[in-house]
Amino acid sequence: MSGFRIWDNNSSDEEQEEFECLDCGCTTSEADFESVDDEMNQQRPRCPDCQSSHRISRATCECGEPATHEVDSGFVCDDCHDHYVSGYNRD
Ligand SMILES: [Zn+2]
Ligand SMILES: [Zn+2]
Repeated sequence: MSGFRIWDNNSSDEEQEEFECLDCGCTTSEADFESVDDEMNQQRPRCPDCQSSHRISRATCECGEPATHEVDSGFVCDDCHDHYVSGYNRD
């Protein structure tokens, strides 16, 4: 008989360390990054959304404008993103 195991109730499979996002204050963990092509920075934890916009906000498009999108080839501004997208659609 073991009547002492009340704390085992909400245990998940693995211990998941949780972090508070620096930007929006929400709770995030490594698990949130499994669905995105990104990794958590435990020194400066951000949720996937904020980390991505933070990274973009510090980047510059190759044309010199501030970047607003992240694409496979790097960071692009709105204008270049339009070209980038339409370049794919055009055949
Ligand atoms: Zn956030
Ligand atoms: Zn550009």
